[in-house]
Amino acid sequence: MPALKNVSNAFKRAAKVFGPGQYSIAEKQIKCPHCGNDTFAMGEAQLNTALATFFKLDWADESATVLICTKCSRIQWFGKNPTKLLSE
Ligand SMILES: [Zn+2]
Repeated sequence: MPALKNVSNAFKRAAKVFGPGQYSIAEKQIKCPHCGNDTFAMGEAQLNTALATFFKLDWADESATVLICTKCSRIQWFGKNPTKLLSE
């Protein structure tokens, strides 16, 4: 999957990448809104400080968590850390 590899490499350069795995937040398992996949690579990205201030994202501590769908490569952003589900 070359497209996903490129996305992963981009995040590896900018931030730490974990996973892939299944994650939940607010007691609900995260699924990809595009393809319905439930496996994601997780990364952390620093938010632009000016942008964070503009959106009043103080609770996000100027960093965000990104989940990259391993199937379609859609990226979802979260202000809090999703919980990684234990694999069976
Ligand atoms: Zn997807």
